[in-house]
Amino acid sequence: MDVWTHDRWRFPLPERHRFPLEKYALLRERVVADGTARPEEVHEPEPAPWEWLAAVHDAGLLQRIRTGGLSLREQRSLGLPWSAALVERARRAIGGSVAAARHAVRHGLGMNLGGGTHHAGRDFARGYCLFNDVAVALDRLRAEGLAGRALVVDCDVHQGDGTAHLLGQDPRTFTVSLHGARNYPFQRIPSDLDVDLASGTGDERYLEALDEALDFALPRARAGVAFYLAGADPWEGDRLGRLALTKAGLRARDELVLDRLGATGAAVCVVLAGGYADDVCDTVDINAATAAAVAQRLLLP
Ligand SMILES: [Zn+2]
Repeated sequence: MDVWTHDRWRFPLPERHRFPLEKYALLRERVVADGTARPEEVHEPEPAPWEWLAAVHDAGLLQRIRTGGLSLREQRSLGLPWSAALVERARRAIGGSVAAARHAVRHGLGMNLGGGTHHAGRDFARGYCLFNDVAVALDRLRAEGLAGRALVVDCDVHQGDGTAHLLGQDPRTFTVSLHGARNYPFQRIPSDLDVDLASGTGDERYLEALDEALDFALPRARAGVAFYLAGADPWEGDRLGRLALTKAGLRARDELVLDRLGATGAAVCVVLAGGYADDVCDTVDINAATAAAVAQRLLLP
């Protein structure tokens, strides 16, 4: 299947930083090795034009990001050192989610091997997220007449505060976030539905909670397009997680979300969001399994 990646655009990081910069190239290799995507089906997005970003983000914030003018406080809450290369990469990540979302509208499913930058809000960039890819992609689809009502299913282990800030008040978008109750961000901006899970929650309880959340969300959303943030960080071995899902449990999660969204007829755009395993190969395993689940459903009649 067609996928998008910005893996070749790297940026300077201090040694032993937790951001998994190496993951993206390994994931490209893995999805090709698995037969999920042929080499020529792995596309490299153009950087999102600043006008796309300006349609959802605050002009002052964008100006500071563009020029390296973020305050010390903003840089600390972003958690990544500013560089021109960081900004270029982030714009390409947004380009990938926009391309994957357009592909989803055309073919039913689309996937960016990146994105899910859900901590970026209208006027803040934090938690490794410069711009909010889902909000920008949805705005583009609407501008192009390709989307109306929308649903965001955020299964990253951290609550989707930036997405809630941008889309929580939008009457045409329903936002759901399932996350660890005692985890970042500690000051929440409410989604339409937030599901707080106790530390140590395992597969069975998680899947029940997810199914219930979808029972609640799907009839309210009546969405033509859905975004699924398939975070790898609810995994039991994740350094920033606190939940205890197995890899099989995460695979079941992906299948549940894809099948329930697919059954509504919504176009589904899948993005990665977080994943911070000690060994990056574990995160790659989880992300590659998500990609395989998407590809499998694209092949079904
Ligand atoms: Zn996360």
